[in-house]
Amino acid sequence: MPFMSDTERKRLGMDRPIPRRNFVSGVATGLVGMSILSRAFSESSTNFSGVEPAEDITGGDRDYPPSLTGLRGQYPGSFENAHRARDGGFGSNTHVDIDTEEEYDLVVVGGGISGLAASYFFRRDFGDDSKILIIDNHDDFGGHAKRNEFRHKGRVYLVNGGTQSIECPYPYSFTAKSLLKELGITVDGYKAKHENRALYAGLTHGVFFDKEHFLADKLVAGAGSKPWPQFFAEAPLPSSVQYDLIRLFTEERDYMPSLDPLQKADALKKMSYQTYLRDYVKISDTAISYFAGDGYRNNKRVDTCPAYEAWQGRGLPGFAGMRIEGIATYQSDFEAHFPDGNATIARLLVNRLVPAAVPGSHDMSSIVTADVEYSKLDVGDARVRIRLNSTVVLVRHDGEVSRARRVDVIYVKDGKTCRVRGKNAILACFNNIIRFIVPDLPEEQKSALAYASKVPMQYTNVLVRNWRPWKKLGVSTISAPHGYHTYLELDYPVSLGDYRFNQSPDEPIVVRMERNPNAPGLPRKEQQRLGRLDMLNTTFKASELEVRRQLERVLGPGGFDPPNDILALTINRWPHGYAYTYDTLGDPPFAEYERPHIIGHRAFGRIAIANADSGAAAFTNEAIDQAERAVHDCLYSNGYV
Ligand SMILES: Cc1cc2nc3c(=O)[nH]c(=O)nc-3n(C[C@H](O)[C@H](O)[C@H](O)COP(=O)(O)OP(=O)(O)OC[C@H]3O[C@@H](n4cnc5c(N)ncnc54)[C@H](O)[C@@H]3O)c2cc1C
Repeated sequence: MPFMSDTERKRLGMDRPIPRRNFVSGVATGLVGMSILSRAFSESSTNFSGVEPAEDITGGDRDYPPSLTGLRGQYPGSFENAHRARDGGFGSNTHVDIDTEEEYDLVVVGGGISGLAASYFFRRDFGDDSKILIIDNHDDFGGHAKRNEFRHKGRVYLVNGGTQSIECPYPYSFTAKSLLKELGITVDGYKAKHENRALYAGLTHGVFFDKEHFLADKLVAGAGSKPWPQFFAEAPLPSSVQYDLIRLFTEERDYMPSLDPLQKADALKKMSYQTYLRDYVKISDTAISYFAGDGYRNNKRVDTCPAYEAWQGRGLPGFAGMRIEGIATYQSDFEAHFPDGNATIARLLVNRLVPAAVPGSHDMSSIVTADVEYSKLDVGDARVRIRLNSTVVLVRHDGEVSRARRVDVIYVKDGKTCRVRGKNAILACFNNIIRFIVPDLPEEQKSALAYASKVPMQYTNVLVRNWRPWKKLGVSTISAPHGYHTYLELDYPVSLGDYRFNQSPDEPIVVRMERNPNAPGLPRKEQQRLGRLDMLNTTFKASELEVRRQLERVLGPGGFDPPNDILALTINRWPHGYAYTYDTLGDPPFAEYERPHIIGHRAFGRIAIANADSGAAAFTNEAIDQAERAVHDCLYSNGYV
């Protein structure tokens, strides 16, 4: 826990934990979107009486996980058995405490979008009466695609806890688009219809300069909208740094005049954006540090993002006068943000797979406020069951791989090892755990699965009393190059179905904050490993303190007062976040068939592998496409081809 004086403790409100009952009182009146007023939202469903929640959980209903506040995501208690498996705690002949004697057509490890989609495709291809068990280590389904709910004064506020939107830098496949369509999702025209950007009219993007790295603490509004000379003139920077940055953003100069466009592309692929800025554009280290918080996809930051990607994928400055060989980035208008992010997709899949748990016929509008009965996810006679709070620690064929007719899947639940059997297994979990839970895999495949490193990410959601400070400061989004979180924004103003987004700056809103802990200067994978460690060693309280400190520093001049204005806080911690993607700086130029994820996702007997890692891309459509491929692998191993 970082040091905090008594004065600071009081000033930030750390001495007054957010009152737990605040979020469950008054629900009965005035709720917008009445169908959301379900069992899960009613005061009587709180089970706090007599049960003191762990320190990491600060509010909500344990029987309804989306409502839990505090430390979520990959929260303490969810991952320890997986780490035990990694450390060799469960051998090939591990003792089974309980043989459930359950046998399924398919056992899926991982209840994220890939595992849910694989179950959906399996029923399509093997028949609706297939018996399927999905096992996940968390108390909620959806994997990264989780939903956070806050309740305040009779109203529910939804926000994504992880996977944010339908959007991808390459086209959605026929498979992914068809699945969305079957689920009742219409992406075309979605933004115009449901997202009210006019709410933030007049507000701009701001940059918070901190006194440790620049000359003073100051939020400067208008990045990208004011002329750059004016924007940087307002920034607390030495004039030489202002000059560097104005030059970078406005100059149209060829910084590699001796190279032709193809040579430029090749050279830019082999150097970081930082190297390019320092050695070619020749701006100072302080000017470069303006980009310290920028993380392009997959945690490629100024020191690890290839300069070529900074140009092509991001449109970062410094290339306006360069002619570079390359294909322009794919621009897609296939985008949609639901009030709970892509948790909507997970909920719709569960509605189709386990209708008893999400009763009714739903599409993207009605699912937002639909009731989910967690107690009905895993009941005896259902064709599909979802078993939560269960970590798979061993998957092995019952007999010789080439002849076995079934697979044993051993998981830990409530401290006991339990066995189920499946005619097929699909591992829709993380690549980096697969080699530990399937010890019989060929060594080549194990080392391929070990290659990638997932990106540590934190999505902090804060329910605040109002957004007047943002209005006063003239911003709706903020970058903080050296902040604890490097990006802050007012939530997407989306109204869908019965869910209505508040329309006034005087009303509560969710502020989203993003953090990618890393260790600048080291190779990307090493930065990610250290970032994960940092996250696992940070308590909720320590993170809460940083949230409060940052909000006070950035928004204080606009009147933000942490003890009064912070109504609820959920820290979604994802040490194993985005799937790894390759880049020209840190990865060798693998031949296509040698790429680790291709070797890694080979089927092994009756065990197939799905998940976004197995497609080496951190996108929902990839999770879906890989799910279908894994089901095709099952068709193959069942002799259909
Ligand atoms: C913070 C964040 C934001 C994102 N935003 C977007 C976005 O806006 N758009 C987009 O397209 N993609 C986004 N992604 C990428 C996202 O990961 C994918 O879109 C997709 O949801 C991944 O699905 P998955 O099922 O492959 O993996 P996951 O969602 O990770 O699901 C795998 C599940 O398996 C579980 N598991 C692992 N090991 C075991 C075990 N041994 N036993 C039992 N269960 C196990 C995991 O805990 C997890 O619940 C985001 C990811 C993160 C982390």
